[in-house]
Amino acid sequence: MANNIKYFIGNWKMFGVPKSINIPKKINNFIKSDKNRGKYKVIITPPYTLLQSFSRFMKNKRIKLGAQNCFYKDPFSSNTGAISPYMLKNLDCKFVIIGHSDNRLEGDNEKIIKNKIRLALKNNLNVIFCIGENANQKRKNQTFNTLKKQLIRSLEKRFNYKKILIAYEPIWSIGTGKIQSSVNLLKTAIFIKKTLKNIFKTKKSIPILYGGSVEGNNIKKFKLLNEIDGFLIGGASRSSKNFIDIIKNYYR
Ligand code: PEP
Repeated sequence: MANNIKYFIGNWKMFGVPKSINIPKKINNFIKSDKNRGKYKVIITPPYTLLQSFSRFMKNKRIKLGAQNCFYKDPFSSNTGAISPYMLKNLDCKFVIIGHSDNRLEGDNEKIIKNKIRLALKNNLNVIFCIGENANQKRKNQTFNTLKKQLIRSLEKRFNYKKILIAYEPIWSIGTGKIQSSVNLLKTAIFIKKTLKNIFKTKKSIPILYGGSVEGNNIKKFKLLNEIDGFLIGGASRSSKNFIDIIKNYYR
């Protein structure tokens, strides 16, 4: 994955019905006419129920398809409600979010997350691996320690780092309107990149995305932060207008 390209990734969470295809349609129309379109990639991750219809629409489009999670077994198993990386790959998904704090809260531990990452990579999916500290860890100055543990315990040197993006999402910032300060964000992104270089024993830089209350009216603040390679956008990605505004304002 090229490092100078920015990523705008929409995490719809539990949102959307078949007619919500209008949202990626509008976003795709915007991208087609945007003079900056060569500078960024757009990925939308709808819920599992919409993957197949979105996949049909996104063939040969500028938006790529991602899933919000996957199961830790592959290709098939007797786990009710589970969706494997193999099944996602066969729907033409290109990306999968793994380790989101919502899923960690529901029981995803580092062993499970590592398995998910391993199987997603085996199926040639690009992994959007979420990490982040909670409010308590931030207050106790444990942010770097927490992030380091999350990275070390779920990643392995043998993983193909070229297919991994890290989404730094401070949990206290998700859906709260609170935004990480630019100084802290820069320091954190540098720390994450350094930790990744140690894990993968490489000099190459792995893309770091920021996630947490990103909106059209605060995106400009991230523009000067070269270490941030893109954004994982929750609430604001469920409206084509809000999502397009984020891209427009970033390049304005
Ligand atoms: C998220 O859930 O990944 C997220 C970043 O949400 P929001 O943008 O709504 O804070």
